[in-house]
Amino acid sequence: MRIAAKLKQAERELSSANRDVSAAEWWLMHVLGVDRTGLLVRLSDELTTDEEATFQAGFERLLAGEPVQHLIGHAPFYGRMFEVNRDVLIPRPETEELIEWVVAHVRDVSDDDIVDIGTGSGAIAVTLSLELGVRVQTVDISREAIAVARRNAAALGADVFFHEGDCLSSIAADSIRVLVSNPPYIEAGELLDETVAGYEPHLALFGGADGLEFYRKIIADSMRVLCADWQLIAFEIGYNQGQVVKSYLSERYPEAETGILKDINGKDRIVYAVREGI
Ligand code: GLN
Repeated sequence: MRIAAKLKQAERELSSANRDVSAAEWWLMHVLGVDRTGLLVRLSDELTTDEEATFQAGFERLLAGEPVQHLIGHAPFYGRMFEVNRDVLIPRPETEELIEWVVAHVRDVSDDDIVDIGTGSGAIAVTLSLELGVRVQTVDISREAIAVARRNAAALGADVFFHEGDCLSSIAADSIRVLVSNPPYIEAGELLDETVAGYEPHLALFGGADGLEFYRKIIADSMRVLCADWQLIAFEIGYNQGQVVKSYLSERYPEAETGILKDINGKDRIVYAVREGI
């Protein structure tokens, strides 16, 4: 079968199974070992028997709901490839906007000034370390996630210091200037797509009865770890959590400027607090 026909057929099947259609193209590029341009060039070629068999085996897994990132073992984030598996959340494009905002707003940060809470794959910590050229501290409660994040930091040459622990408990007092987190924020009981619920760690997804548990916990303990000249706090949030998380921040830091930023889809996605005078 020609590559173009295989791709069309695979996309049709994924669409009727209510799966992410773009997974077909990703998987095909991986099987053929080409990027998008390489795929375009080869569209009218025939697939070899081996290629077709490899494609088909993975395609069945996609149809069953497995994320394409798990087939490939990697996911792109901020222009780099991160190893992912069932122990970590697959980094999302929305989180790239958190990185962009933080990179644009921090000033003169040094090693260990920044902490990323709940690092998962290490996407945020590794990216901030590489973009800003500093060592970033990070925490996760999952030893398995830390193992993945450590491999990502090593593979990408990032300088990351890992703490295994619950939220800020292992972070020294008065030591942090920039606090960043994309904590688990889904409400308990919310029904998720099978590709998410069946394959991504629930520990990384659910944030207690109202989804806000980790914001409350982190913000409550943040006063202990932030130093007097702290710069900013930035959280990724669920689309309906902006106002409440912003109010938690402004109650705790009445002197700070707080705000909500929207993502590319026009949904509330980031809440921040910036210390006055910064
Ligand atoms: N910090 C990681 C990310 O943004 C993991 C987040 C999480 O597991 N909730 O991808």
